[in-house]
Amino acid sequence: MALIVQKFGGTSVADTEKMRNVATKVIREKKAGNDVVVVLSAMAGETDRLIALAHKISELPNEREYDSLISTGEQVTVTLLAIILDSLGYRAKSFLGFQVKILTDKAHKKARIALVDTKEIKKELKKETIVIVAGFQGVDEDNNITTLGRGGSDTSAVAIAAALKADRCDIFTDVDGVYTTDPNVCAKARRLNKVSYDEMLEMAMTGAKVLQPRSVEMAKKYNVPVYVKSTFSDEGGTLVTKEDKEMEREILSGVTYDKDQAKITVVHVPDRPGVAASLFTPLSEHNISVDMIIQNVSAEGHTDLTFTVSKKEMKEAQKIVNATAKAVEAKRVEVDDDVAKVSIIGVGMVSHSGVAARMFKTLANENINIMMISTSEIKISCIIKRKYTELAVTALHDAFGLEKKK
Ligand code: ADP
Ligand code: ASP
Ligand code: MG
Repeated sequence: MALIVQKFGGTSVADTEKMRNVATKVIREKKAGNDVVVVLSAMAGETDRLIALAHKISELPNEREYDSLISTGEQVTVTLLAIILDSLGYRAKSFLGFQVKILTDKAHKKARIALVDTKEIKKELKKETIVIVAGFQGVDEDNNITTLGRGGSDTSAVAIAAALKADRCDIFTDVDGVYTTDPNVCAKARRLNKVSYDEMLEMAMTGAKVLQPRSVEMAKKYNVPVYVKSTFSDEGGTLVTKEDKEMEREILSGVTYDKDQAKITVVHVPDRPGVAASLFTPLSEHNISVDMIIQNVSAEGHTDLTFTVSKKEMKEAQKIVNATAKAVEAKRVEVDDDVAKVSIIGVGMVSHSGVAARMFKTLANENINIMMISTSEIKISCIIKRKYTELAVTALHDAFGLEKKK
């Protein structure tokens, strides 16, 4: 007997018919003699609808109320699945984040899980109950509902799997695994049988939304084996796991893109110690993450500073940066959200030269201008004009021969 956590995403629970299909998958594991904990997302499009509702009323809605509102989509799906399983004669019980309790910090809209209390879940599993937990939500120490950031149900599932020391965490979605790039963008994308935590983390952090980055971080930390599978077919699947010798060290494992990017430039900033700190400290105090940063070579005591933030946080960031720019006597602040980030990922990069050059040449051949570049040991990212995203992804996938199994 094993303990299995099964997470189903929005398209898998998009309507009651699809939820019956989910019930079949859950029952199959239960009938095989396993303990099953199910984690669900909201129905596809529901979280977007709730967010749009809040923004219809206010540009920057009260964060506490916003999180309570946007977490309601998951309450609908977990209760519906419990009703379906119950009507089929199975013991099932739904739990919201606070009922479990999934304790988080206070960072609304992107809270981090501090602790998953397993007492209630274990009590129910002992009674042979199928436990169904609402993904994406938690509760802070003052009993306020929090949410974990878009795609956060993946993290709920892995956190619960880690806390319960589950044998497996299955992430069911609308594709049958992790591919060399988004299979919905590039027809030649190839499914990976196995991918290491580190590569998956870079892929997730640079935009492959099939797993939320924090879920991969957590899976790595607690060594949770994660399987990405299709809800709609039994074929395929990708295991996300520790790097082992069997894994072929290909130069690249994947190409990713992220359209949730905005570029902010502070023009003509005095080039003196402390200026960068005074620009970025207020942003971090407002919990705004800065991604790529470029500072130009100084000319006549002044420089330009460009950085990227999530598009969703651009307005707030702009407001904060405008105030600091004025204080440090910069000339002006420019924003551009018509951009995207394309990245190539691969542990094999470390031991191969010329990878960056090949990336830049490929983009140049397509006449795509590179606005910013950043690199890590196993990743190179470029900011380009948004409209070239798909072209860049396909060209890079081709240039590095990713469609072929080597
Ligand atoms: P869910 O609602 O099940 O959580 P998501 O939409 O969050 O599903 O994630 C699945 C989607 O991730 C796929 O439909 C696919 O378009 C996208 N995706 C992006 N990059 C990749 C990749 N490298 N491999 C697989 N899917 C990817
Ligand atoms: N429903 C949430 C979202 O749309 C969480 C998730 O799907 O993982 O972001
Ligand atoms: Mg998702």
